[in-house]
Amino acid sequence: MRVFKFGGASVKDASSIKNVYDVLQKVGFDDVLLVVSAMGKTTNALEVVIKNYFDKSAELKASIQEVKKYHNQILLDLFEDEKHEVFTAVNRHFTDMEYFLGSNKSPNYNFVYDQIVGYGEIVSTSILSYYFNHSGIKNQWVDVRNLIKTDNTYRDAIVDWELTQKTISKNIKKSVLNITQGFLGSDENNFTTTLGREGSDYTAAIFAYCLNAESVTIWKDVPGVLNADPRYFENAVLLNQISYREAIELAFYGASVIHPKTLQPLQKKEIPLYVKSFVNPLLPGTSVSKGADLEPQTSCFIVKKNQLLISLSSIDFSFIMEENISAIFGLFHQYKIKVSLIQNTAISFSVCIEDKFNHFNELKAALSKKFKVTYNENVSLYTIRHFTDKAVQMVEKDKTVLVKQMSRETMQIITKE
Ligand code: ADP
Ligand code: ASP
Ligand code: MG
Repeated sequence: MRVFKFGGASVKDASSIKNVYDVLQKVGFDDVLLVVSAMGKTTNALEVVIKNYFDKSAELKASIQEVKKYHNQILLDLFEDEKHEVFTAVNRHFTDMEYFLGSNKSPNYNFVYDQIVGYGEIVSTSILSYYFNHSGIKNQWVDVRNLIKTDNTYRDAIVDWELTQKTISKNIKKSVLNITQGFLGSDENNFTTTLGREGSDYTAAIFAYCLNAESVTIWKDVPGVLNADPRYFENAVLLNQISYREAIELAFYGASVIHPKTLQPLQKKEIPLYVKSFVNPLLPGTSVSKGADLEPQTSCFIVKKNQLLISLSSIDFSFIMEENISAIFGLFHQYKIKVSLIQNTAISFSVCIEDKFNHFNELKAALSKKFKVTYNENVSLYTIRHFTDKAVQMVEKDKTVLVKQMSRETMQIITKE
């Protein structure tokens, strides 16, 4: 079995969905499981709905309407017959979503978040499944929440591999084309959970692992894994083949073309990952597999924007030692703040962090009890794998360097633009 994952960009409008249909016709869909994300920027739009709901904003209705209108336009572009049952099916999902908001009593933001954002994937897969059945690609819509079981860490759920393995092996029929949702799972009470933003790549890997798939292909708007994000770097070049290790490193440092959690389950079973273009599906793209001889010869550049550089120094000139450092990391963990670089001297300790869940103010207050806290907002963290002098000069050009750190293979530079 092959697992294919189509992300938001590949299903952002009717012509993109028709393109997915063409891709399947070209590369075949026998014994395939399709994992699909929410359409275009739907998850962001649903995040606005959730914010409006909690803020009790007058914009709540309008923000829901916007999401509905966007999907309705896609339906009108895909189906000539406005009486087709897909219209009712999609409408029913949105009615369920509104019913949830109308009756919800939980003040837990993350819980409500997962119950609402999940509709992005539920709706997108319904539309795709109906459209493909209508156009001759017979398929089975599968609710991933019955298969991927997780704990109840809403917005960042941890997979229960044993249960997930059981439900997937029992319920996935290999003889049909299955279409299911990326990003979602469910907890022991069957409430929707999500695996972290951009988590659909990871979903594909979970299925591949549990089904002992032959390969996973993630279809992207780029020709494959490049040596840099083409949005920020000119002349990025395609990496034809890389090892799991290199891919894990690139994804870990922030090459957003692959979700970092994707690689580990695949590597464990040596299932190859292909990153291919949905525009040119017959081109080979990038293959990620086992092998130390696959390292790229070129420098690879990764940039993470909008990071925070925090420096802590002890108020009484005492050293910042193991005990303090473990307490500091305890706080990062508590506030779900991701640390991407660490540097310490005798009495000061600097970290570059990403505050995905907006907890920085709480963290700052907690740290300020023991340390003098200074920080720079909005810094960029550049990582260069396989760096050369020329590569470093290119990154540093016209920027103020705040921190620079180097290991054998990797250079990291924090800059203020
Ligand atoms: P999806 O539609 O699956 O969500 P993403 O938008 O998450 O896809 O990933 C594709 C994007 O990743 C590209 O458009 C590109 O801007 C970005 N990207 C970041 N780093 C790289 C890289 N090293 N190679 C290719 N693309 C990259
Ligand atoms: N729709 C989710 C997101 O935008 C998951 C994904 O696309 O991978 O984060
Ligand atoms: Mg994405």
